[in-house]
Amino acid sequence: MSAWVSSIQDAGSQVKWKENLPELVGELSSWSEMIRPLAQKVAQGQRLSLDDGLLLYSHPNLSEVGRLSNCVRVARFGSYAFFNSNVHVNQTNVCVLACKFCAFRRSKRADDAYALDIEAYLDDLGQYAEVVDEVHSVGGLHPDWDVEYYESLFKATKNRFPHIAIKALTAVEIKHLSQLSNISFKETLLRLKNAGLGSLPGGGAEILDDDVRAVICNGKESSSEYLEIHRSAHELGIPTNCTMLFGTIETLEQRLTHMIHLRELNDDTNGFQCFVPYPYLPDNSRLPEAQLATGSEILRTIAISRLMLDTIPHIKAYRMNIGDELAELALQYGADDIDGTVQKESIMHLAGSTTPLDHDRIRLARLISDAGCIPVQRNTTYEKFEIFIPPVPKPRTQLKMANV
Ligand code: SF4
Repeated sequence: MSAWVSSIQDAGSQVKWKENLPELVGELSSWSEMIRPLAQKVAQGQRLSLDDGLLLYSHPNLSEVGRLSNCVRVARFGSYAFFNSNVHVNQTNVCVLACKFCAFRRSKRADDAYALDIEAYLDDLGQYAEVVDEVHSVGGLHPDWDVEYYESLFKATKNRFPHIAIKALTAVEIKHLSQLSNISFKETLLRLKNAGLGSLPGGGAEILDDDVRAVICNGKESSSEYLEIHRSAHELGIPTNCTMLFGTIETLEQRLTHMIHLRELNDDTNGFQCFVPYPYLPDNSRLPEAQLATGSEILRTIAISRLMLDTIPHIKAYRMNIGDELAELALQYGADDIDGTVQKESIMHLAGSTTPLDHDRIRLARLISDAGCIPVQRNTTYEKFEIFIPPVPKPRTQLKMANV
């Protein structure tokens, strides 16, 4: 089978994936004593607690944590790992807020402030329209752009590029539009859906703890508002992603509580498609007190996400943030998706990302197949899938060695 479809709820998972777990986890005696009780819980399809998460963070053997999370990934998806063909168009960097971790926002009067009008946005997107099926658009909170503006933008986009799915606007942007237009979150979402919005990205969750938020993103939506906006979207049939920005000032307990808030919401709504944990990048931002995540900590956090978030199907290794190499490795640590071709991106690159932007499907698929997985191209909402096998690379030839 090289192409298949799935319901939004299953998002490509094997429907009875939990039945695969006992065999994948195998003999409990093959696990170290410390992790054995957790391996047993995973094999039985039981939910892990906050204390279990802390134990996974303190376990000295990272590869064993990865092995356990990999059992869950394989139970859900076998050898498949996912990507899509997308482009990021960030509509404006003008923002009325000034989150400390943000290297992207500008005040309206800054020399390098920009705001794409609808024609400029369409021109930008039009450069990639033949090779993408998703546009990912998030930006600053522009003081003059209300819900009506975005209705016009989305209608014009769907009109010109009907095949492109619009994944746009983080929770704080929805809050901003609802305030400017003086309507509820739900009405804002409904109007945008009717204008062509297909799904919401997960950005802006940061850490769902209001004490942390008061320091790193004062003025942004509260934890409960983030959850309420995503709940409203799910109730309207708009699938969403969710994220976690880690490596600023949060504790491990706060990271795990964040995950628990998300899975509890998803217990009610079943509307999250994908969780995207990504570390804070410090360039051009204002958080000198941040405790930056190391490579091992990034892999461990991805693995723990997979184990804690038992009801969210996909765990994304966001290569725009963590780089291609770590994203590839993360496929052995519970992640099953490495995002898309992207083509252009500003937010992470201004904060220090050096991930290349010129990848086509062949390069992405090679990252996946080199990690031992079968590359599968998906659509935005994880309902359509097609195996994409990259051409076999040319054999390596030995180059003449330089004299050293
Ligand atoms: S993270 Fe978003 S809301 Fe915060 S300053 Fe940056 S653009 Fe504005």
